[in-house]
Amino acid sequence: MSFTSVNPYTQKKIKSYTALSNQALDQKIKLADRAFNDWSELSLEKRMAYFQKVAAYLRREKQRYAELMTAEMGKTLKEAMAEIEKCAVGCDYYLEKAPQFLADLTIETEAKKSFVAYQPLGIVLAVMPWNFPFWQVFRFAIPSLLAGNVGLLKHAANVSGCSLAIEEIFRACDFPAGAFQSLLIESKTVESVLKDSRVKAVTLTGSEKAGASVASIAGSQIKKSVLELGGSDALIVLADADLEKAAEVAAHSRMQNAGQSCIAAKRFIVEKSVKKEFTDRVLHHIQVIQQGDPMSEATTMGPVARLDLAETIDKQCTETVQQGARILHGGSRQGCNVQPILLDKVKPGMTAFDEETFGPLAVIVEAKDERDAVKLANQSNYGLGSALWTQDLERADRLARQIQAGSVFVNSLMRSDPRVPFGGVKLSGFGRELSDVGLKEFLNIKTVWME
Ligand code: NDP
Repeated sequence: MSFTSVNPYTQKKIKSYTALSNQALDQKIKLADRAFNDWSELSLEKRMAYFQKVAAYLRREKQRYAELMTAEMGKTLKEAMAEIEKCAVGCDYYLEKAPQFLADLTIETEAKKSFVAYQPLGIVLAVMPWNFPFWQVFRFAIPSLLAGNVGLLKHAANVSGCSLAIEEIFRACDFPAGAFQSLLIESKTVESVLKDSRVKAVTLTGSEKAGASVASIAGSQIKKSVLELGGSDALIVLADADLEKAAEVAAHSRMQNAGQSCIAAKRFIVEKSVKKEFTDRVLHHIQVIQQGDPMSEATTMGPVARLDLAETIDKQCTETVQQGARILHGGSRQGCNVQPILLDKVKPGMTAFDEETFGPLAVIVEAKDERDAVKLANQSNYGLGSALWTQDLERADRLARQIQAGSVFVNSLMRSDPRVPFGGVKLSGFGRELSDVGLKEFLNIKTVWME
């Protein structure tokens, strides 16, 4: 069995990688298990010293890793450079905060002493996707390893080069052997890894199908799982919004990374009185997108990562138009290069409203008023992120609480920021990443009570 990386822009094969044999896989788990004993015994200061090296190393090697990402999954080199920087910033953030987050928490009770201690679980398996091949991995690995866990990565098959490169980073920064390893395995092998008693927990970012499978295996083994799945985020624009800013951010949110982001604004829900003006402004921002070679500086949108993903977007667009939507922009495709699409007159019941669209496809949905806008936003099986545009912050505070999502960003780009929790409700998954909440997902939150 082997995995082949294909450049989505040129469709040329980059390299094939051989899958791990069962014996090699077992050796890796054994090594991780051994590493956990030593790694978890190290002081936090010592573990932090390793991550200081990681931050510096990422910044030093940024260009090389960015080029690898661009070649394997097609994001523009500029986006890839920013992604590596984000991983380094993630290190900086946890290096500053980990001592505070991991300190014992004293709780006043009638006992002589009572406190909570935060202790690592052991080997955590990370099943990760290709859309942010470095950031998705680092946002799990930094807090988990700092807290004393060790990591095994099963990365998406189309980014095996990135998977091995991430393992190389930990090696180059002198981490003990086994503290972080990449497993080149098929998705069907995840079951046996997760059922191995040495593996204690799993985090998965990806589709509902993969999430449901992995969480049910974890559940059968009584192991903790965190799921970060799809989204169909609403971006609500109310009549009093700064329309130009809202349109610019909406187009960027939807089209960055060629539309392949779980927290992209996928449904623009706009109050009727400003719909025409907002739509015209969004259309302008979409028209100026420069498609082309993602390695080129002039390109602002690269190809989608795989042909099957491009075909899915095509199909979702065609179906939605057949169901009554009007196409304002896009509709053509060459291989993985999907022209950015803007659809108007989209309603519940249409494919692009009901399904997650993982590519450059934006839709305009008309809302009668704020109440209708929130109702439409919540008319989704997903609940990951969302955005709300209004200049009235009291109104925003009230409406933000009514939106069924893990995050609501008001007058701003919905994004993952290490300082705030990230995750969803409904079919978007459960558990949280980032901040102190994410760091504590894979810890034994131990109560100690002394009389
Ligand atoms: P998948 O969910 O199939 O892949 C994500 C990761 O899960 C990969 O590492 C994949 O491995 C692994 N995986 C897939 N199925 C299983 C399984 N049954 N058991 C264990 N691991 C599994 O996503 P796709 O790449 O196929 O993309 C399909 C759709 O998923 C997208 O269109 C989008 O809607 C959603 N998605 C959401 C993401 C997010 O950020 N929330 C990211 C990526 C996709 P392998 O590559 O070997 O199959």
